[in-house]
Order: sequence, then structure tokens, then C-alpha cells
Amino acid sequence: MKSEHRKMIPVMEPDLSQLEEDYLLESMRSGWISSIGTFIGKFEEGFADFCDVSYAVSVSNGTCALHLALAAAGVGPGDEVIIPSLTFIATAAAVRHSGATPVFADCEKDIGTIAPAAVANAVTNKTKAVICVHLYGHPVDMDQIQAIVSDTGVIVIEDAAEAHGALYKDRRIGSLGNLATFSFYGNKIMTTGEGGMVTTNCPNLHQKLRLLRDHAMDPNRRYWHTEVGFNFRLTNLQAAIGCAQLERAQEIRAAKDRVFSQYETKLSQRNELTINPSRPWAAPSPWLVCIVQNTSSSEVSAKVVQDQLRLHSVDSRPYFIPIHHMPPYQDFKVVDQEGRPGAPISESLSLRGLNLPSSTKLESADIDRITELLCDIFDKNF
Ligand SMILES: *Cc1c(COP(=O)(O)O)cnc(C)c1O
Repeated sequence: MKSEHRKMIPVMEPDLSQLEEDYLLESMRSGWISSIGTFIGKFEEGFADFCDVSYAVSVSNGTCALHLALAAAGVGPGDEVIIPSLTFIATAAAVRHSGATPVFADCEKDIGTIAPAAVANAVTNKTKAVICVHLYGHPVDMDQIQAIVSDTGVIVIEDAAEAHGALYKDRRIGSLGNLATFSFYGNKIMTTGEGGMVTTNCPNLHQKLRLLRDHAMDPNRRYWHTEVGFNFRLTNLQAAIGCAQLERAQEIRAAKDRVFSQYETKLSQRNELTINPSRPWAAPSPWLVCIVQNTSSSEVSAKVVQDQLRLHSVDSRPYFIPIHHMPPYQDFKVVDQEGRPGAPISESLSLRGLNLPSSTKLESADIDRITELLCDIFDKNF
């Protein structure tokens, strides 16, 4: 393989059209550029419909969404919150900022979502919440999580930052826990630049989310604050982009499905790897194309694959690193599916997983080139 000099194919690019531009200009010209304006309510209502849920509260980003959800649920110092070790750092940071103690659970093999068996082993009488991260667009087995926590008062929060539009047993993610959080960062399935959302079916939690998002100001008395709140508001400018993305959700989804199925056609025959691993009960959302090397003695390290792809101007991402290894998180409990300390499946998956270019802008010829490169890399190394 010769290396070539061409423009690097990125892992993700936002899918923006004339509609986003039109709405953005409309919001700017209205003068309502902060967090009051007609697009905010429209975006929240439209997103609640999209998730088949009663309420949606927009926020500045997905990390704030998690922080606000925890605060609204009353999570704080002395509480334990069970989270997966294999996730983006924001899930753990939000728990720390709430003052609660994270407890890390190992994941399921292949799909990498939090393992119900590990959650069952991690529950104590201090457990206040569990955060189910729908990792790389694949839903968590929510019925099993609900069965573990039923009658315990433990709050279930979905971190759906990577899974807009995914279905779990024909139900929309974002409607399956007490609360769910979303991100609209530029590389997510739906974007507003920066932005986030919290969804819930509970009227009391909804009230609490709105109160805390806006400095906990008494709705009936201006500048009277009943508790310590936040400024986690989204701007009308961002909501305008969000409204356009919502209107185009099906179009974007169809383009993503085209990309994913072309990769699957080209790579599903390779027995060294599994592409977009999933379970029969899940209809994952196509966020990032995932390839997971099957365990074998002749594994090519993900780093080698990445370096080779980069030589040919193709960017890729390694899987997340298990969080319990990182300095601020090393002192907390880690529990595997048998109840032992550690997260062996997360460790292994983290080394074997890679995300490939996944944007709707990819042309069919790009995907052909990427898959051929990959096949070459594996042929040479096995
Ligand atoms: C992106 C992401 C977040 C954080 O969202 P931001 O909008 O970037 O703050 C939280 N959790 C997961 C799993 C994510 O992928």
C-alpha cells in the first residue's frame, strides 16, 4: 500500500443544509439570540414527540443535561451512582460534580453497554441512581435494569447522547427511564453546535428541571431564589438549528443507514471482526461505525490499524478507555458481572474496538476505499 496525499476523511461531520441556515438567520434577525425565543419551545416540543415522551427541557450541552438530571433527581453527597466504566468521561464527571460517588460497572461483550449482572452486583443501600449509557447508539437492556432496581427507589437515567432515535423493543430510547439526557455536540447524530436535552414523563421532575436550569428562580417572584440553581440554558440560535435538524431527522437517518449498510456489506464477511455488533431486541441508532476485532491470538492492535488508515488519509477513533483507570476516578469501586472487582470485558473491548468515518457526507467511493484498506491491513497481518 502506497501512502497518498489527499484530504483526511474525518470520523464525523455535521449534516447541515439550507434549512438550518434559514432558521438560524431567522432567529438572529428576530433579535432573540439568548435563551428566550420561539425556537426554544418548538425544539423542546418537537424533541419530546421525537422521543415519544411527555417533556423535554433544553440545556447548554450533554454534560449539563446529566448534571441537571442528577440534581433534579436529588442525587448528592453520600449517594452512590452506578455507571459503566466504558463510556465518554462526561458521564462520570457529572456524577462527581453532583457530589455523589460513582460506582463503575463492567459491560456486556461485543455491544459494550452496561451489564445488568454487573449492576445487580454493584447495588448497595446507598445506591441512588444508575446511568444507562446507550453506547455508540446501541440501547442498554433496559428491562433487565428495571427488574434489578424495581421497588428499590433507585432512579434510572438514560445517557442517550449517542443514540438519538434508537429503539429498544420497539420503544423509543429517551422514554425508558425516569430521566434521559441527550447531546447535540457537532459530532452527534443530531447537532446544534453545542447543546443538550433532558427528557422525562414525570411532571414533578419536569418542573424541577426547569427550575434548576434557570437559577432556581421562583416562577411567581422575580429574583427570589428558593435553592441553588444553574444557568444551563440553550440559546434560541442553537434551538433554531435544532428545529431544522428535527425536521430533517428522517432524511439524516436514511443517509446514515446508507453509509452503515455499505460498510456492513463490505465487512460482514471478515471473520477477524464484527461490524456494528447488536442484539436482536435492539434497533440501534447509526452514530459511529464500530468494528470490533474478534478475540484471537493474532489480533492486530487497534493502534496499528489506526496508524495504517491515517497513512492513507482516513481518520478513525479508538474506543473509549475504561474510566476507572484515570487519575480522578481510580479510588472508586469497579464491579464485574460476577461481583468481583474489575471490568475485564470493558478492558478487552476498549483495546479491540475502533470507529470508522461515519458521516452522511461520505461518498460510496470513499467507503469502498476505506473498506478495501481495512481488508488489506487484516490480510497483511494475519
Ligand atoms: C457526547 C457525550 C456526552 C456529553 O455531551 P456534550 O454535549 O459533549 O457535553 C455525554 N455522554 C456521552 C455518552 C457522550 O457521548
